Amino acid sequence: LNRRLAEFGTTIFAEMSALAVRTGAINLGQGFPDTDGPEEVREAAVRALRDGRGNQYPPGPGIPELRAAVADHQRRHYALSYDPDTEVLVTAGATEAVAAALLALLEPGDEVIALEPYYDSYAACIAMAGGTRVPVTLRPSAEGHGPFRLDLDELRDAVTDRTRLLLINTPHNPTGTVLTREELAAVAELAVERDLLVVTDEVYEHLVFDDAEHAPLATFPGMRERTVTISSAGKTYSFTGWKVGWVTAAPALLTAVRSAKQYLTFVSAGPFQYAVAEALALPDSYVAAFRKELQAKRDLLAAGLAEAGFGVHRPAGTYFITTDIRPLGHSDGFAFCRALPERAGVVAVPNAVFYDHRETGAPFVRFAFCKRDDVLREAAGRLRVL
Ligand code: PMP
Ligand code: GLN
Repeated sequence: LNRRLAEFGTTIFAEMSALAVRTGAINLGQGFPDTDGPEEVREAAVRALRDGRGNQYPPGPGIPELRAAVADHQRRHYALSYDPDTEVLVTAGATEAVAAALLALLEPGDEVIALEPYYDSYAACIAMAGGTRVPVTLRPSAEGHGPFRLDLDELRDAVTDRTRLLLINTPHNPTGTVLTREELAAVAELAVERDLLVVTDEVYEHLVFDDAEHAPLATFPGMRERTVTISSAGKTYSFTGWKVGWVTAAPALLTAVRSAKQYLTFVSAGPFQYAVAEALALPDSYVAAFRKELQAKRDLLAAGLAEAGFGVHRPAGTYFITTDIRPLGHSDGFAFCRALPERAGVVAVPNAVFYDHRETGAPFVRFAFCKRDDVLREAAGRLRVL
């Protein structure tokens, strides 16, 4: 492994999912649903395979049907207008979109500001692109509970003459924070004032609860031209194994990202693109129903975790709950998660892996709630032994 990647090794998700398989524990670590997405969307994939649509190299930017469906989705939900031919790119999941964007837009030595804790691939991709990550830490508004918030002064202070881009993620994995309109407006103002590019990972755009609202950064003044927006069918439609994601951006930025994508995967797998185009055209009631279902799951697991003695940072979005293990008498999330399968038959993820400031992240542990209710109840019951 070269020096750029030496610090990364095996991802925490692979490690913890392997631990779950080895111990037979309930896997609330890696975020993937245990119920597949809509039947009719699966049928659409089967039809595409059988009818020979997408079995040979599809067009590089993605099939026209899916690009049109992505553009229509952005218009319908956010009144954002993107030209499917020049402003939409299909990628191999959001993961490739993040990689292609960073590889395309960074010069060696450029600084990238990322919200800490950050999704693990950000750090590795910034490193592969030769960039330098500059974390800005989200902090709980109250110890042991309360949402994690962005300190806007800290964000402003992190910008230097070498800052090239802001890498934003909202709704935020792993904290479940949904940046408010006011916060996003301040991020946008800063980007305009300091002439920064923004890459925004909005894969959990539809997974928001209670009165939380997701607003894409590209909708704010001055942002459409400087923002690369990323999403994925994995989260909204519960098909994480299909690896279909997409980018929307103004033509110059999109062309740059597409240039990098060409030499990463050339094109993304064909038949699933046809199916995802149909998923994006589902009535909006699909998203509303899914959101309601997940909100009930959040409440179920949050109650179980609180009863087991965890500090619970109730998420406003995503399908993760970040907990604080200090009320249980622990302070090292790594040790806690490595021992948890033996102690309680449950797997979780230590948030510290998402931090440069490992000490700050040490007491936090993440649980995924995109699981069947009986699985969540069983996990909650098991955790009561702690
Ligand atoms: N970004 C974030 C914040 C995520 O949580 C995930 C999924 N774990 C991804 C990107 C990757 O998405 P995909 O599976 O579509 O590559
Ligand atoms: N995004 C999912 C998570 O945060 C899993 C992604 C992965 O396994 N790389 O758990």
